[in-house]
Amino acid sequence: MIIEKVSKNDEWEDYYIKSKSSNKHYIITFDILEDTVSCDCEDFRYRKENLKFGGVKLKDRESHCKHIKKILRIRNELI
Ligand SMILES: [Zn+2]
Repeated sequence: MIIEKVSKNDEWEDYYIKSKSSNKHYIITFDILEDTVSCDCEDFRYRKENLKFGGVKLKDRESHCKHIKKILRIRNELI
């Protein structure tokens, strides 16, 4: 699995995640100001996303897809 921090500023933080077993890749975005997070995978978009303007609350752990969970586990180790 390849994980990269794509961009970061005071408002947004983007991560790129790609699995080795398939060619699929996803972008996970943290909205720092709103304290929300979103992923562009199917599981998240169709089953988990629950806020009007997209994403879910960062503390709403039950609504995180596996990609978001993965990023949250290693977020502090990525530069
Ligand atoms: Zn996802």
